[in-house]
Amino acid sequence: MTDSKNEKHKARMQARKEIVDAGVAKAQQERGVVIIHTGDGKGKTTAAIGTVARALGYGYRAAVAQFIKGTWECGEKNYLESSPLLEWQQMGTDFTWETQDDAADRAAAEKLWAHCKRWLADPEIYLVVLDELTYALNYKWLDKQEVLEAIQNRPAEQSVVITGRGAKQYLLDAADTVSEMTLQKHAFHAGVAARKGIEW
Ligand code: ATP
Ligand code: MG
Repeated sequence: MTDSKNEKHKARMQARKEIVDAGVAKAQQERGVVIIHTGDGKGKTTAAIGTVARALGYGYRAAVAQFIKGTWECGEKNYLESSPLLEWQQMGTDFTWETQDDAADRAAAEKLWAHCKRWLADPEIYLVVLDELTYALNYKWLDKQEVLEAIQNRPAEQSVVITGRGAKQYLLDAADTVSEMTLQKHAFHAGVAARKGIEW
C-alpha cells in the first residue's frame, strides 16, 4: 500500500472510530433483552441455540422450550442437555399436520408454557429460549396477553430469544431486537433431504 493510500485509510478509520465510539458511549443501559428470529429463511433455531452456547460458556444458566418439536431427535439437545446449567423441555408432540389433534396439541403447549412461566420468574436464569413460540401463539394454544405479561415482567437481567415464522406485530412490539431470516434458497426445494447434524 502506498503512503498516501494508507493515510487515506487511516483518516477513514479514524472517522469510523469516532462514530463507533459515540454509539458505544450512548449504549449505557444494562438489562436483559427480548430477541426475535422470524422469517421464512433457515437459521432461526440455530441462532437461538448458538446464543445458549454463548451464555453457558460464561457459566450462566439457560432454559430452552421447544414448541411443536418433540418427537424428533435434535443434535444440539443431545450435546448440550448434559450441562447442569441448562434445562430443556419439549412439547412432546409432532407437527400439527402429523398430530391432527388440536386439543392434544393445546394441552401439550399449556404444559410446556408452565415451565416457561417458571423460568420467566426465575432471576437465576440468564437466558430463556422460546423456540417456535410463534406457532403456539398463532394457533391460539396460549393466551397472548399472559405470554406478553410473563415476558414483560421477567427479571431485569434475563434475556429471551423467541423463534418462529410469522411473528405478529404485537410480539415484534415487545422485542428489543428483531431479525428476519429471508429465504433466498433452501436445499430442500432442490430435493436435498434434511441432513442429520445440519438440519436437526
Ligand atoms: P434451523 O433449525 O435450521 O435454524 P429454522 O429454525 O430457521 O431452521 P424452521 O422454520 O424452524 O427453521 O424449520 C425447521 C426445519 O426446516 C429445519 O430443518 C430447517 O433446515 C428446515 N427449513 C428451514 N427453512 C426452510 C425452508 N425455507 N424450506 C424448507 N425447509 C426449511
Ligand atoms: Mg426453528
